[in-house]
Amino acid sequence: MLRPNILKLQPYSCARDEFSGQGDYVFLDANENPYNSPLNRYPDPLQKELKQNLARIKGVRPEQICIGNGSDETIDLAYRCFCRPGKDNVVAIEPTYGMYKVCADINDVEYRRVLLDDKFDINADRMLAACDDNTKLMWICSPNNPTSNDLNADEIRKILDTFPGITIIDEAYSDFSNQKAFRFVLDQYPNLIVLNTMSKAWGLAGIRMGMAFANKDIIDVFNKVKYPYNVNNLTQKCANEAISKVLNVNKWVATIIQERDRMSEAISVLPICEKVFPSNANFILVEMNDADAIYDYLISNGIIVRNRSKITKCGNCLRITIGTRNENNTLLSALRALAERTSENK
Ligand SMILES: *Cc1c(COP(=O)(O)O)cnc(C)c1O
Repeated sequence: MLRPNILKLQPYSCARDEFSGQGDYVFLDANENPYNSPLNRYPDPLQKELKQNLARIKGVRPEQICIGNGSDETIDLAYRCFCRPGKDNVVAIEPTYGMYKVCADINDVEYRRVLLDDKFDINADRMLAACDDNTKLMWICSPNNPTSNDLNADEIRKILDTFPGITIIDEAYSDFSNQKAFRFVLDQYPNLIVLNTMSKAWGLAGIRMGMAFANKDIIDVFNKVKYPYNVNNLTQKCANEAISKVLNVNKWVATIIQERDRMSEAISVLPICEKVFPSNANFILVEMNDADAIYDYLISNGIIVRNRSKITKCGNCLRITIGTRNENNTLLSALRALAERTSENK
């Protein structure tokens, strides 16, 4: 499946690859400045300590992990490793996360969209029908952004059992869902890549760290192609500390889910709201009677949500991230005030 140039790539060999022992050595190998410890040193290019810790909490093996500068880097890596520019194509659900298409365009790879059904669910046969001999990647996101729902796991398994290329399942929001994560079946599917991120449940969007989980052959190629020092020392340290406090994350997730369900209910009864779609993520997709007007009104009240009304199948929809209880109440008050004003004008 690999691009021929990647298959025969001789990767850059950095000082820290050739010697990475820990301890009281005199390091005169990497042209670093001897002063300003500890940040004078290059980071571990393979993030070994971090992978040990991640493997433990994610239920995968360290050699099944590639760490990226955000999961956005791992999305781009998939194109660079597998897709020949101007020749190959990928198939993706629609609507979904915008970066799959942006990275396709940057890499000059044809991007084929397959519409989700009216319940925003995936149909394996339609995805497979969109493929040809040059289809290298299949993009699936579950829970999906911006639709917020889990996709049907049986349909996804059908794709995994049938599609000969690489299937990528982006599980950026799986911490907020009860569906079993696909990273637990990595060993059954040598052509499966699962993406996770520290940007959502972990509350660490600012450190830029994402992960790809896959079989060792794929991970070895990703490691060859990525920039050697793509994850800096501060990020690795911060992520290790966060992992040692994983109970915080569980508490945040539980609170956010509780707030999500409260907000879904409260917004769904407003007369300016047509529908709140069922969510398995940390945001809700809401169909309004006039999304553009409500979006502008909220901005004038100092509240920023995402206007998704121009996205396929999301006409009149706003995507609302679940905030703190206070933030959510601020939004609710503003929406209730607007709803009252609108009904008085009728
Ligand atoms: C937010 C999000 C990400 C996160 O990307 P990072 O680069 O890790 O911040 C990945 N995938 C989806 C679907 C997202 O919504």
